[in-house]
Amino acid sequence: AQLDTMDILVLVVLLLGTLAYFTKGKYWAVQKDPYATSLANGTVGKAGKSRNILEKMDESGKNCVIFYGSQTGTAEDYASRLAKEGSSRFGLKTMTADLEDYDYDNLDQFPEDKVAFFVLATYGEGEPTDNAVEFYEFISSEDVSFSEKGGIEEKALGGLQYVAFGLGNNTYEHYNSMVRNLTKFMDRLGAKRIGDAGEGDDGAGTMEEDFLAWKEPMWAALSSAMNLEEREAVYEPVYEVTEKPDMSADDDLVYLGEPNKNHLEGHSKGPYNAHNPYIAPIAESKELFNDKTRNCLHMEIDVSGSNLSYTTGDHIAIWPTNAGKEVDRFLNILGLTDKRHMVIAVKGLDATAKVPFPSPTTYDTVVRYHLEICAGLSRQFVSSLAQFAPNETIKAEITKIGSDKDYFHEHAASKNYNIAQFLEAMGNGEKWTKIPFTLFIESLNKIQPRYYSISSSSLVQDKKISITAVVESLEAVGAPHVVKGVTTNYLLALKQKQHGDPHPDPHGLDYAIGGPRNKYDGIHVPVHVRHSNFKLPSDPSRPVIMVGPGTGVAPFRGFVQERAQQAKNGENVGKTILFFGCRNSRDDFLYADEWKQYAEDMGDKFELVTAFSREGPNKVYVQHRLKEKAEEVNKLLEQKGYFYVCGDAANMAREVNEVLAQIISEQRGIPKEKAESIVKQMRTSNLYQEDVW
Ligand code: FAD
Repeated sequence: AQLDTMDILVLVVLLLGTLAYFTKGKYWAVQKDPYATSLANGTVGKAGKSRNILEKMDESGKNCVIFYGSQTGTAEDYASRLAKEGSSRFGLKTMTADLEDYDYDNLDQFPEDKVAFFVLATYGEGEPTDNAVEFYEFISSEDVSFSEKGGIEEKALGGLQYVAFGLGNNTYEHYNSMVRNLTKFMDRLGAKRIGDAGEGDDGAGTMEEDFLAWKEPMWAALSSAMNLEEREAVYEPVYEVTEKPDMSADDDLVYLGEPNKNHLEGHSKGPYNAHNPYIAPIAESKELFNDKTRNCLHMEIDVSGSNLSYTTGDHIAIWPTNAGKEVDRFLNILGLTDKRHMVIAVKGLDATAKVPFPSPTTYDTVVRYHLEICAGLSRQFVSSLAQFAPNETIKAEITKIGSDKDYFHEHAASKNYNIAQFLEAMGNGEKWTKIPFTLFIESLNKIQPRYYSISSSSLVQDKKISITAVVESLEAVGAPHVVKGVTTNYLLALKQKQHGDPHPDPHGLDYAIGGPRNKYDGIHVPVHVRHSNFKLPSDPSRPVIMVGPGTGVAPFRGFVQERAQQAKNGENVGKTILFFGCRNSRDDFLYADEWKQYAEDMGDKFELVTAFSREGPNKVYVQHRLKEKAEEVNKLLEQKGYFYVCGDAANMAREVNEVLAQIISEQRGIPKEKAESIVKQMRTSNLYQEDVW
């Protein structure tokens, strides 16, 4: 293909960007975002590299910055939505900002006629998300000091007006602690909050509605504080998609799912992390359930060809691709099927808009590899689609669904539609050709890697990572489609390919198993490792009690494997009790045979306690078994034993916490409150650790 001026420019910038990357900021500041090397995303420019938010806002003419602290992408998504809405409804000049990309010691000079938003997820035990750690440490410090006005004493942030929203989960003890603490710290620094600090609750499943309910009064308060005038919301794209009919999808410059430039050029190398996966061979895969109606996969992922390392208790992230059937549906309902392999260049329309994937690329690639097209619907997104409906009748219906919470629930949410299924159902045979593709890039989440608790021990197999994953398949009454989990069905397809299964999926899912340009062929999957604090005691003689029903057993297989190895090595290994629960001993008793081997290796130091909920007359769960073993459990805790819980965050983990407090109270003859505070204390001193999801 002939290169036009634009292409040459792209090449030059790619080259400069790569240089920046490889010189690791020696000659200029390097951005963490690997896509920042592409001109298409527009961040390479005069406003591109600064860690100075004030400068950046000035250069790009912004008066509203929306910082986010995001782990799984939801907070980032809410930040983008606020940015869009602020701009389209109120004419604010908005930008979103990853907290990790900026310094904060100049917030004391934040202009009074501008506003900063903080959209903060609370992670784990009340912790900041990875990208917010530095900000949180800075702002929470007793002797925080800003560049001009000092710190707490001087009310250094007196000129800053801010808006806050938190994303949390009420099943955790430190519910929404990030946003609650932020407002506390901002208060003492004299900053002025606009509206109430919002709190979304993932535990109650009301995150979206909490957000929608919070933002209206917030916008009203902000309008009056900044004298904003509301106008009819018009769609203003943040990105521009340019079709390149003269380029071919086979062109070496075109990204067909390669996550970054190194992968595109075929010489991917570490460090492997959340921006750069390792394409790992799957060494082995097998089915763990005997029950023919459900699947649970055991996989061994070979990382020997990489510099990836893990320690027992870490997580591995799997990067999924969407099922072909859903990719086809999505492209079809938008009328893009014929153009699916058209090369497109995507760029941000201003310097602060990051394109969430590398470009140039194709429609098919964006939908297959980069957008979370299978997730449930957001009411706000649905309402933004009304203006692009195929006709007035559909427009009226979409407007109603978008504006009425109950109607939305009845006609959209309860049907478990993904976006394309929803458009199909609403379109009555009509295609939705008027929706700009950019709207999807802006409104759908970027596809997220899913985490799995590593189910092997690094002492036993340091270059082979095991996972234990139950395949998600959700059939709901009144829902026309079965919801098939994105990643786990992809893994299932990989397993089936590995075993040459001729009839892969009854629901007709199919996957681009070979990956971009067939680079994943031979059964590979993109991964990276995330280190966790979920760890065995360093002294193996300390007792451990593990509670892990279902796939919650995953990390404990690793723990037990490790202690069995230590016992074989002649080390003094303490008592190791595992509470495992499932439906019955026949169908879903994970690793039933392996436990026998570990018991042989460890002798009476290992004890497996099972709870089969559907085997006897009454439902028995791990909590019940824990209670039955109260005396021993308490004794081991008194010997400074470690207590671990893994699996379902919503119910099991909370109940286990309660049962443990009961056990301590009864066994030690102390009041319940005292026992509860002992459990809390155990958590603080890492004697009680959770790995829940
Ligand atoms: P997704 O596509 O993400 O769907 C998940 C669920 O979302 C569905 O089942 C459904 O309930 C809902 N959903 C999705 N789409 C819709 C829709 N259109 N409408 C309504 N509802 C919808 N899992 C394991 O099996 N083993 C582990 O060891 C393990 N360890 C983990 C460790 C950590 C730290 C974390 C955070 C999670 C862990 N998980 C583990 C969970 C895992 O990360 C995935 O969430 C899980 O496998 C589902 O992924 P998926 O892509 O297949 O499903």
